[in-house]
Amino acid sequence: MLVQRLRPYSTSVFGEISQLAVTHGAIDLGQGFPDYEGPRAMLDLAREAIATGINHYTSPKGQPELRAAIVAERSRRSGEQYDAATEVVVTAGATEALTASLLGLVEPGGEVILIEPFYDSYPAAVALAGATARTVAMVADCDGFTLDLDELRRAITPRTRALVLNSPHNPTGSLLSEKDLRTIAELACEHDFLVISDEVYEHLVFDEIPHASIASLPDMRQRTIVVSAPAKTFNVTGWRIGWALGPAPLIHAVHAAKLYLTFVPPAPFQPAIAYALEREQDWAAANRAALQGKYRLLSNALRHLGFDVKRSAGGYFVCADVGTDGTAFCRDLPSRAGVAAIPVAALSTRPDWNTLVRFAYCKRDATLHEAIARLGA
Ligand code: GLN
Repeated sequence: MLVQRLRPYSTSVFGEISQLAVTHGAIDLGQGFPDYEGPRAMLDLAREAIATGINHYTSPKGQPELRAAIVAERSRRSGEQYDAATEVVVTAGATEALTASLLGLVEPGGEVILIEPFYDSYPAAVALAGATARTVAMVADCDGFTLDLDELRRAITPRTRALVLNSPHNPTGSLLSEKDLRTIAELACEHDFLVISDEVYEHLVFDEIPHASIASLPDMRQRTIVVSAPAKTFNVTGWRIGWALGPAPLIHAVHAAKLYLTFVPPAPFQPAIAYALEREQDWAAANRAALQGKYRLLSNALRHLGFDVKRSAGGYFVCADVGTDGTAFCRDLPSRAGVAAIPVAALSTRPDWNTLVRFAYCKRDATLHEAIARLGA
């Protein structure tokens, strides 16, 4: 029954692995969600919003207060300026911002370049738009991964309409270098394609390295849609708030598609997120530092267990080469060890990643210690 273009995407590896974790009572280091809560005052504000009647349609672009908070936070942090009235749209999670960008800006038959491995919604969203994905693989770089710029050049055709970027990257945790960003920007300008820059892990870059957006490079603002969300910054992955930032004509297109997907984003969470963006940056900074500690804890433990652990520069995930078929390994792990993880093969179309497994470290230290003990046993 399922339409042909969605057939390859009828299940989500995150749903499947989380279900296995529930079935076997396993600790879920698969799906990337924290098991501890965001700032208390933000949570209280959402409760208060429901109690005081903020339960109805908002502006389809999002509440003005939230839009103002989004652009103000970006301006304070990076100096990038966006107009809250015309250059931002609030969506149901970053996933909707990305899907609406592709639906609103890529004609059927257009080509979209994706970087493998990728977050699973990217190829599905390209398929929803009736477009064609052309993929470029990341390549090994010391103990991490980097973009293969030569393959990227070869993937560009006259039909290329957009490139989807994600840095810090899910699943590898790698950060695109400034040189990579510059090369991508030059190619985008030369071949006249858009960049959809998924920056949902922008507040989680380790070692105090400032997050760099491709939108800040010369001539890129006009052709970049920045997609972000508070889910990972403030531990609210289930609130389904996200946004797209960009020049007015691009945001107009994203908005047009979004109108017929969800119409408006969830109302009661918007004032709480506006508050958090304005007032809880210290919480976010402390959480970023804590996450770096969690990354070290889990990666050292995985290394002790004999896995070839890759370097992560930020985000929620660390990848390890388990030296055997990662899909079978992850299918067995919940029942065998009481821990769940994601096979990177499920986030790719190529066999290159078959022995790589993604572990989420965005968990309480106690959870990580228990998972490590179980893996050791
Ligand atoms: N972004 C999260 C991850 O990569 C959650 C994905 C999902 O559940 N669809 O794990």
